[in-house]
Amino acid sequence: MDIALYVSGESTLAGRDDVLKLSSNENPLGPSPAAQDAFRKAAGDLHRYPATDHAGLRAAIGQVHGLDPDRIICGVGSDEVLQFVVQAFAGPGEEVITTEHGFSMYPILARMVGAIPVTVPEDTRRVDVDAILAAVTERTRVVFIANPANPTGTMLGADELQRLVDGLPPQVLFVHDGAYTEFADGFDGGASLVDRHPNVIMTRTFSKAYGLGGLRIGWGYAARAVIDVLNRIRQPFNLSNAQMEAARAAVLDRDFTDRCIALNARMRDRMRQSLIQMGIGCDESFANFVLARFDSPQTATAADAALRAEGILVRRVGGYGLPDALRITVGDEAAVTRVYDKVALIGLGLI
Ligand code: PMP
Repeated sequence: MDIALYVSGESTLAGRDDVLKLSSNENPLGPSPAAQDAFRKAAGDLHRYPATDHAGLRAAIGQVHGLDPDRIICGVGSDEVLQFVVQAFAGPGEEVITTEHGFSMYPILARMVGAIPVTVPEDTRRVDVDAILAAVTERTRVVFIANPANPTGTMLGADELQRLVDGLPPQVLFVHDGAYTEFADGFDGGASLVDRHPNVIMTRTFSKAYGLGGLRIGWGYAARAVIDVLNRIRQPFNLSNAQMEAARAAVLDRDFTDRCIALNARMRDRMRQSLIQMGIGCDESFANFVLARFDSPQTATAADAALRAEGILVRRVGGYGLPDALRITVGDEAAVTRVYDKVALIGLGLI
């Protein structure tokens, strides 16, 4: 059931050439041209095994983000890094805390290792620090939150994060999933929290701001001791040369990334204002999507169907406990105009 949620039916519009996919939080500008060049160049070396230590990629990430490369681990998407975490830190009968509208992979990963996912309520679509702390038992091993969160787009500030970590027993690993960090202006993704606490790991991805979702590259940053344990689980050749070279070029192309982030901020604001003007609920989003909240699940279903009929794919989030909402990826100018012409008609009751 959970897997079906994660891999929802995007192929149903196959064959149409006007499909606008706003369902997976992909970058409307795609990857940086430098990353595409690096990928093509790596294709000339397909007979070579890749480096097992990811040194070049870790050095580039460390340089750009001001982090110690020896405390970075790379994986096949951040999903793989999250998987290493549960494999290393949770086991049968142990508990993994996630939140009411949290990312669907967390309970899947917990169950994968026989652990028990414990889902705590949120406070009006925001992670509730007190609810998490109240749910901790002596069997708790891992706490997962995404910040900014998917699919709500909401975010905890530095004080709340600190309070959460301060309240956790030291044997609990706090996973600060920063898949959408780049879109939250000026946020370090939790890196400074990691630097202060040995039981925190920050995970990041090349799938969103860097437009490399199809290539599958993610990374994590934590204390040396945590990274060493995760590396014992990692397969030596988990990343190909092409993945590493493209990701390295992408992270070093800061101008392109800045352009993507600026476009997202502009369009996200426009999307939210348009929704609000139409009387559709929309919390402030710190990510590259917005959550449109309709007056009922029936209206959300009708809006989804109307968009789909126009070739526009957005995400139903009933499986995340949000049956009256649709998650819509922030697109480029043309995409936002196309969606909102349509949503406006729905909002006005004309469809
Ligand atoms: N965390 C969150 C919160 C996400 O939304 C996603 C992607 N949907 C991921 C992790 C995984 O991303 P990837 O494996 O592509 O790095």
